Amino acid sequence: MEKKHNIDEFKGQTRLPNFAIPKKYELHLTPNFSSCKFSGTVKINLSINEKTKFLVLNSLELAIQTTSFTNSYGKYTPCDVVQDDEDDILVLVFDESLCVGEGFLVIEFSGVLNEHLRGFYRCTYVDGEVKKNMAATQFEAVDARRCFPCYDEPALKATFKVTLSVPLELTALSNMRVENEKLDGELKTVYFEESPLMSTYLVAVVVGLFDHIEDTTTTGVVVGVYCPVGKSDQGKLALDIAVKSLEIYTKYFSVPYPLPKLDLVAVPEFSAGAMENYGLIVYRESDLLYHDLHSPPSKKQRITIVAAHEVAHQWFGNLVTMEWWTHLWLNEGFATWISFMVTNILYPEWNIWSQFLLETSNGLQMDALEKSHPIEVEIHHARSVIEIFDAISYEKGSAVIRMLQGYLGEVTFQKSLSTYITRYQAKNARTEDLWNVLSEVSGEPVNLMMNAWTKSTGYPVIHVQLTDNILEFKQSRFLLSGVQVDGQWIVPITLCVGSYERQKKFLLESRDGRVDISELVHYIGDDVNSNEKKHEEDSKENLWIKVNVDQSGFYRVNYEDKLAIRLRKALQNNYLLPTDKFGILDDGNALCQACEQSLSSLLMLVDAYRKELDYVIVSRLIEVCYDVLNIAIDAIPGSVNELKQYFINLLMYSAERLGWDSISGEDHSNSLLRGEVIKALATFDHDKTQQEALRRFQILLNDRNTSLLSANTRKAAYVAVMRSTAGESRTAFKSLWSFYKSNDVLQERDDILRCIASSTDPNVVLEALNLLLSDEIPDQDIIYVLGGISLEGSGIAVRWLKDNWERILVKYGAGLLLTNFISQIVPLVNSNEEADEIEAFFGSRMNPSISLNLNLSIEKIRIKARWIESVKQDHSLPDLIKQLSLRK
Ligand SMILES: [Zn+2]
Repeated sequence: MEKKHNIDEFKGQTRLPNFAIPKKYELHLTPNFSSCKFSGTVKINLSINEKTKFLVLNSLELAIQTTSFTNSYGKYTPCDVVQDDEDDILVLVFDESLCVGEGFLVIEFSGVLNEHLRGFYRCTYVDGEVKKNMAATQFEAVDARRCFPCYDEPALKATFKVTLSVPLELTALSNMRVENEKLDGELKTVYFEESPLMSTYLVAVVVGLFDHIEDTTTTGVVVGVYCPVGKSDQGKLALDIAVKSLEIYTKYFSVPYPLPKLDLVAVPEFSAGAMENYGLIVYRESDLLYHDLHSPPSKKQRITIVAAHEVAHQWFGNLVTMEWWTHLWLNEGFATWISFMVTNILYPEWNIWSQFLLETSNGLQMDALEKSHPIEVEIHHARSVIEIFDAISYEKGSAVIRMLQGYLGEVTFQKSLSTYITRYQAKNARTEDLWNVLSEVSGEPVNLMMNAWTKSTGYPVIHVQLTDNILEFKQSRFLLSGVQVDGQWIVPITLCVGSYERQKKFLLESRDGRVDISELVHYIGDDVNSNEKKHEEDSKENLWIKVNVDQSGFYRVNYEDKLAIRLRKALQNNYLLPTDKFGILDDGNALCQACEQSLSSLLMLVDAYRKELDYVIVSRLIEVCYDVLNIAIDAIPGSVNELKQYFINLLMYSAERLGWDSISGEDHSNSLLRGEVIKALATFDHDKTQQEALRRFQILLNDRNTSLLSANTRKAAYVAVMRSTAGESRTAFKSLWSFYKSNDVLQERDDILRCIASSTDPNVVLEALNLLLSDEIPDQDIIYVLGGISLEGSGIAVRWLKDNWERILVKYGAGLLLTNFISQIVPLVNSNEEADEIEAFFGSRMNPSISLNLNLSIEKIRIKARWIESVKQDHSLPDLIKQLSLRK
């Protein structure tokens, strides 16, 4: 029987109705680079499974010229074509019902090659001296509908046969190989092979001028890298990584790469870092191009991780795709986790898993907010998907996977993943599908274990107490706001007692747990080795206990005082692994922000890291110093200078050992650390560092290839330049800015942008922010400026945001970039009053693509306000800070 429908039924729905299913798209696009418009035709083979007078698909900001539906009974033209821009749908209404069975829909349409870096968009490249237009696509999550009318949902997979008519001199790229090319005057029409089944968000097209290099994997897949003209040398690193990771994944998943080719292409303007479109990974240039001389080691690492991440998606995401955006984390969490695994295989000397802790820490920070969301998050409006490309999907997602892998073991885990990919290839999957496979292979109740981790917001803090060799554990949800909320997880607890050789693990399945550690305490017996002997002096009262060994679990630990003091001693005696040292610092900082521990105890803890040289630990230490300084300005203004001095003293140990100049053959992590430490010293206004930075910057201005300012220390120099720019004099800023404008090394340009808002003078910060409203900085690069606003500039930045909101909205649209204005600026201020004002301001300006970020940002302000109040109550602090600042 035929159901009655009217158009209103299709509005306000999260998903499209399911009575017509796409099977194959033939898409022909003709971009016009002088009018900046495009025209297109799409033929969609449909399977109609319910008699209907309506066809409902997605379309946005497209002009529809003609439409018709043809099946074996004839050709039907709709009597009404309705576009709804609220729900991004196109409804075709027919007089007669379309019968169940196969047919095809043909739509002719046109659109604008927009400037907003999404859908089908234009960007410019320089040919000789002339700026010219080119075009690229970015469809994830829901912008394929801006390029052609389609069934724009990940589960509605179809094959795609793309055809492009483009100017003769340009290169046209798409997901598949070129099958045929026909010339027609100044245009050529390029026909691509038909793709295997794929989701709309993975379709891609790039038309531009490129140089190109390629290589072939051992299994015969051709991998190409497309770079700006004259820069193909800079694509070699990414090419090498792409080829190697393709080979690693082919073995790891035991499923061959599904397409005949894989291209990586760098486009001049791109909103994200890179996008994993099937067979055509599109990049922002700075995440693909590597300059042997000018790129810092951190860039080599970034390019490796990004390439390994995007190539992983070809299986995890493209071949097996999430059924709906709720399961986005299956793509991102896995690609993040596995990119570290591959990087570790390619560069074991980088010790990259310890850097994974920085990712985990980001996830822990965001998920300690009440307004965070579960890994599996309900998506009610397609436009809000953009907001969940965040620390929860990527970092918590990957950390939870690592925790599970640690519990199940590497071999079982790999076997399960390979089974999962094989079973769901060319299909879609939900989170529970993966859990089922893991349970099947491992024999463990993975579903039960993982439910709370992915379906509920937050994570536990484990309170640990020791009474007569009995360790007591108690879990509760950790929130920075201090609010008590229920929550319970199945937590894989690991612990060691006085030595890494004395370990124990168990699952904490309820709120409380008790473990008898007598046997571990009395372990020191007959076969005492030298390492044990060192610890023998530890009497029972001194025995340290570290929970969450190697920081492999996604939770925090709060030790009772006695245990915390013992751990601090163990830290000072250097008994602990770097990962555990990191964890103790990271947890200590979070517990202090949540007002569960005093700032005094955090500062004492920090003091135990005086002689630290590990890159990951010192990076975190620097972040902790920033966090504390940020609130100290309001909480203990009289002690800020001494506090800075204390932090400077802490960092001097590593700064003096590393010096300014790279040492050939030194550790990768040492060169990373040098850049971080010197930049931090410049930010804390360490006089000697600033003077030296300015001296070296002057040399750089005269000699761009000077070895006195290597790529990894330049940011420190830029910060020093900006911190010395205050008041009327703008000379130093001007010379930095002209250095930016005359520089064509991308990473240097990005690094300059990262520092130009770091002045101590709010008016200079304002000048830097105003550049974001001009055409001086490419849209894609605003994120760098926003990430580097100084503490002194925070108030003016928030005022600037409010004053210019309408302009920002027009210029940056409702996209990925817009959310950065909220997430980077709003949390800079510290008081409840300011939070109220921001809330009131955005009350009438809310839209679905900023609401989550706004709520999170406001919560962050209120957490700081509460922390400030608690710090103000601690009257012994100024004395303690004075003492600490005098310690060398
Ligand atoms: Zn990804």
